[in-house]
Amino acid sequence: MTVPDHQTVIVGAGFSGICTAIKLDKAGLGDYLVIEAADGPGGTWYWNTYPGIAVDIPSFSYQYSFEQSPRWTRTYAPGNELKAYADHCVAKYGLDPKIRFSTRVLSATFNDQECLWHIRTDAGGDVTARFLINASGVLSAPNLPDIDGVDTFAGATMHTARWDHDQNLEGQRVAIIGTGASAVQVIPAIAPTVQQLTVFQRTPIWCIPKFDVSLPRWSRWAMRVPGGMTVQRMLSQTYVELLFTLTAQYFTVFPSAAKRGRALGLKHLRREVKDPVVRDELTPRYAMGCKRPGIHSTYLSAFNRDNVRLVTEPIEKITGAGVATADGESHDVDVLILATGFKPPDIDALPFEIIGSKGQSLSRFWAENRVQAYEGVSMPGFPNYFVVCGPYGYNGASFFALIEAATHHIVRCLSQARRRGAKCVEVTDEANARYFAEMMHKRHTQIFWQDGCAGTKSFYINSHGDIPVRRALTLETYWRHHRFPLDDYTFST
Ligand SMILES: Cc1cc2nc3c(=O)[nH]c(=O)nc-3n(C[C@H](O)[C@H](O)[C@H](O)COP(=O)(O)OP(=O)(O)OC[C@H]3O[C@@H](n4cnc5c(N)ncnc54)[C@H](O)[C@@H]3O)c2cc1C
Repeated sequence: MTVPDHQTVIVGAGFSGICTAIKLDKAGLGDYLVIEAADGPGGTWYWNTYPGIAVDIPSFSYQYSFEQSPRWTRTYAPGNELKAYADHCVAKYGLDPKIRFSTRVLSATFNDQECLWHIRTDAGGDVTARFLINASGVLSAPNLPDIDGVDTFAGATMHTARWDHDQNLEGQRVAIIGTGASAVQVIPAIAPTVQQLTVFQRTPIWCIPKFDVSLPRWSRWAMRVPGGMTVQRMLSQTYVELLFTLTAQYFTVFPSAAKRGRALGLKHLRREVKDPVVRDELTPRYAMGCKRPGIHSTYLSAFNRDNVRLVTEPIEKITGAGVATADGESHDVDVLILATGFKPPDIDALPFEIIGSKGQSLSRFWAENRVQAYEGVSMPGFPNYFVVCGPYGYNGASFFALIEAATHHIVRCLSQARRRGAKCVEVTDEANARYFAEMMHKRHTQIFWQDGCAGTKSFYINSHGDIPVRRALTLETYWRHHRFPLDDYTFST
């Protein structure tokens, strides 16, 4: 019988991987290795360093409940503070020696006889582990647009997730393709420095103001008082749940929440955008919540600037000189910014190949059965495999709530395996089918299936026409992760 190199391998050292490692240590399951492609921790906040980057969930909620920071300088922390928070957690919990940086996992194959995973990396050779925890995130692979000629541009091209800080934008003519969540932050941040900014918009984004203020001294002081952090976090969690989940997840139950959101968005547009033609072009024609709204106070007003131009004409191709649109106009620029988001998780978009029991690949399992995972963490046919931000895991509010709940679920399984001396842990078909059926049954309350979203090209929708990036439940149901019946798993020696 092969003795695995490690009891557990965790892929990814973002907030999911860090939380998993901390919880494994706390549970006395410290024999693990974290494998991370980047040369530092932080995941999203390591890779995304574009101007203006910040969280769009209040910082009181966007942090671990067990490691609340009194150091946030603003109600919505900027990206560098989140990266520093990740570094702080790695240092405080002594994770560094257990992380193998600059190493990418290429594939993972389950061996039925040995009941363990063989993990292949780009460093060469295999690492073996009893348990494999996929914490590789959902928004980590930049999506490059499928536009004719995108490789032929003679100037500098960069994706927002791979910002080139050597590129000085001052006085440059810049084009930005896309008006999603990253563009909403980049546009107002760079508009004052560039000579000309041309924004290519396919679909306008709903944008609502952000209560982003520097935290006064009393507030930071309150964070150090026992109970102070708890109160701030409770208020913040309530706000996040009301804003993100009630409007989208329970649309049919609380239709007025989305209506109020829409009214707020329209008011913000009227107040911020002077030119009625531009304002009309910036006005979404779909219900708020079909796509994640932008939360920013100065995105819309950036379009009042003389050096910012909104182009809604479809892009025909990229040329050596810039962007050519369908009306025959050529927009010549020096720098091209691709704010085109991330590859959505889907059957053919896994961060590495996963081959489970009896040689079945996860891609094939999902292709044949639709994308699914029990409570967003495990799948039948993939023993000893768990994912932190898996299908039907995230409810649309703060990722931290999901991360803590999912890692609790995973560690509970691993602790139980240790107690029973089990080498193989696998979710039952019945439990998985039950959860998937529940998601299908409940999803009809979500906004995404209503007329207001018809025709919206959302990255949420996968190739089966499903929306596995949204758990059809609200935050409180994450507590199910704490209570799920252990009989939903088989534990075998
Ligand atoms: C620009 C941006 C802004 C965001 N803002 C918010 C927000 O305001 N609120 C919110 O709740 N969420 C936000 N998110 C979502 C964010 O991704 C999550 O909040 C959270 O950071 C996810 O953590 P994670 O560890 O699961 O994934 P990630 O942070 O993506 O980390 C995954 C890690 O896995 C590594 N990895 C991937 N594949 C491999 C491989 N094959 N081998 C080795 N390592 C690998 C990656 O390098 C990365 O470091 C944002 C995402 C982006 C991209």
